[in-house]
Amino acid sequence: MSTERKDFLRRIVEEDLKSGKYSEVVTRFPPEPNGYPHIGHAKAITINFGIARDFGGRCHLRMDDTNPTTEDPVYVEAIKDAVRWLRFQWDGPVRYTSDYFQRLYEYAVELIKMGKAYVDSLSEEEIREYRGTVTTPGKRSVYAQRSVEENLDLFERMRKGEFAEGEHVLRAKIDMASPNMKMRDPLLYRIRHARHYRTGDKWAVYPMYDFAHCLSDYIEGVTHSFCTLEFENNRELYDWILETLKVSPPRPHQYEFARLNLSYTVMSKRKLLELVEKGVVNGWDDPRMPTIAGYRRRGYTPESILAFCDQIGIAKANSLVDVAQLEFCIRDDLNKKVPRVMCVLDPLKVTIDNYDEEESQELEAPYYPHDVPKEGSRKLPFSREIYIDRKDFSENPPKGYYRLTPDQPVRLRYAYIIRCKEVIRDEKGEVAEIVAEYYPDSKSGSDTSGIKVKSAIHWVEANSARRVELRLYDRLFKTEEPKGIEDINPDSLKIVKDALIEPAVIAEKPDERFQFEREGYFYADPVDYSDDAPVFNRIVTLKDSWAKKQKTTKSKPHPKPKTEKKPAQKMQRPSDEAASMGEEEKKLFDYYTRKLGLRSEMASTLARDDVLSSFFKEVLKHHNEPENIAKLVINEVARELKNSQDGRIGFTPAQIAELAEMIESGLISNKIAKQVFEEMAKSEENPRAIVEKRGLVQIADPEILLPIIDEVIASNPGNVKKYKEGNERLFGFFVGQVLKATEGKANPKVVNDLVSSRLEK
Ligand code: ATP
Ligand code: MG
Repeated sequence: MSTERKDFLRRIVEEDLKSGKYSEVVTRFPPEPNGYPHIGHAKAITINFGIARDFGGRCHLRMDDTNPTTEDPVYVEAIKDAVRWLRFQWDGPVRYTSDYFQRLYEYAVELIKMGKAYVDSLSEEEIREYRGTVTTPGKRSVYAQRSVEENLDLFERMRKGEFAEGEHVLRAKIDMASPNMKMRDPLLYRIRHARHYRTGDKWAVYPMYDFAHCLSDYIEGVTHSFCTLEFENNRELYDWILETLKVSPPRPHQYEFARLNLSYTVMSKRKLLELVEKGVVNGWDDPRMPTIAGYRRRGYTPESILAFCDQIGIAKANSLVDVAQLEFCIRDDLNKKVPRVMCVLDPLKVTIDNYDEEESQELEAPYYPHDVPKEGSRKLPFSREIYIDRKDFSENPPKGYYRLTPDQPVRLRYAYIIRCKEVIRDEKGEVAEIVAEYYPDSKSGSDTSGIKVKSAIHWVEANSARRVELRLYDRLFKTEEPKGIEDINPDSLKIVKDALIEPAVIAEKPDERFQFEREGYFYADPVDYSDDAPVFNRIVTLKDSWAKKQKTTKSKPHPKPKTEKKPAQKMQRPSDEAASMGEEEKKLFDYYTRKLGLRSEMASTLARDDVLSSFFKEVLKHHNEPENIAKLVINEVARELKNSQDGRIGFTPAQIAELAEMIESGLISNKIAKQVFEEMAKSEENPRAIVEKRGLVQIADPEILLPIIDEVIASNPGNVKKYKEGNERLFGFFVGQVLKATEGKANPKVVNDLVSSRLEK
């Protein structure tokens, strides 16, 4: 790794190792065991463990257990589980601040002896009053004049439990007029008559966070103490305590990073505990909870969480990250990994009346149809009775409905084309069953029927299908920045009791994730699943349904292929963006937003990273499309730089410019661009050469395709006439001609749509 592209924390660590300030980096992850760890903790875990790993150092796991009233060993276990599940291992045993209570007490005694701490006997309210405000200085308590002997005596008796809670506290004697409120004689110890889950009743005094944290870091030999931004003002106190006690070097230093906030999510343990206690969710590991245990039970993979933490990076400004980005990460991880199978959520019976009652057959169906070289397939039973999903049949189809209708045949995935012959209704007049006919020569893979269908639907065979329960999870909150229970999404869980699944899924190892074709990604619930009553959790839908809800859909002149877009990196608020930037960074940021029109989060990412920034400017010299270039640089180039071992990269600014041009012209899709980019980074070849050599060009742009289609239509008037007279088989002819004219490079789906709209006129 090279210096420049690292995040600011890694740069600090690297600098400190280089200068010899420390010989080894030691970090720690210091959760308080008062709740299950959440996705924000995953960020802190990745930072602390990740940095130790990257620099060959060590990371401790320390339970910051100084508050006897809220802590519980159950949470200790949950924290250990979460760290291990994320594939990290702490150095040595799990550590506990409570193990240091004796030493901390001795340090406090030392401060008293130095005249730097005193026992105060003001009430809580008086202490607050005396502290002053940000604009007015505070005044010191009269008890600050107590002698060292008296303080020692009182503190000792506090420890033994001779006083009531709130009667006395131990305070540092610093400066009641300090502009930093944290320095106005902060509390170091308070009395608590509560049983501690580890030390029992041994102690009646407990150290405050500020006193315990820096000293625990020091005791453990931590070098870099990373915490979230809200502790920025505590740093002065952190340093004061270590310096006043003159601890022998090397001593730790504190650095702050931005905490993770996710849209549609509450993240504080206090609020999560409330959800659990009020029964809004079914426990800390409810699959809707943003806890690691919740994600795990829902079916998220550790890889997806780690990828997410990696993508959001480490910044010095607080921001709100779109939860869609996390959902993108899990889809992206599972897309290639997991087998695709068929499950019908809302079964509608179909009887194929020209299929012999006595007969049945087994069809070969690949588990990874999108990834042909990948092996694996199963047998799909097929017989006269099958089930399709109710939503895949429509008697009064809206325009653009591609599935089964009384007039429109449809393909059963991996099987045959069927046509609806008759609709059978129940007493209420609702569709109860469909009588259909299948085309024996339309078998998938050897279809000679020539029948044109617009889509393939999933289905299951009636006799072999198994009944399963599905739990369809959605976002727990319906508002972007939820406050609490009042913002709960009432549809965050829908239970489908009678879904039908193909037999192979149950027969084979169910402790696995699946894509249920056209429905989403699913995971066998690790708690409630049993062979007799299988239960699957929906991990995530196939597409982001929330993006649609938010955007007003514009009518487009031509259908475009649907590709899932990666959500915008971050939804940062501009005021936050620039807040913590240096002078130079701020100037760049202004230039990028005002002059180049970049969105603030892009501008900020670039402005904060001088290597990325200068690379970006180089690319612009070749091709002046700031937004498109910025996207490539921030997403692809940055990742490559980060992954590169020696700081060398296999491509030049000119090549990135070329890649951008190819995307803009529609020559390649964004998806293919990713592939080209990866190859480019490895082979150092020009992107255009890669695209040509590997035949990656994809024409999906209607602007390019329509003239070709019009040409094909114009030169085949006879076939157009026949088609319009009802010979629908000729549809394939036109599509074929267009594909031929583009040497197979046209996106077939787009061509289908375009040809169909052109021939309708
Ligand atoms: P919460 O406010 O959710 O209860 P906390 O900060 O009180 O969290 P701790 O158990 O004290 O929780 O946190 C352990 C470590 O995790 C701390 O270093 C803290 O800074 C970090 N951390 C907590 N929440 C986040 C977050 N949302 N993003 C990043 N780091 C976090
Ligand atoms: Mg806390």
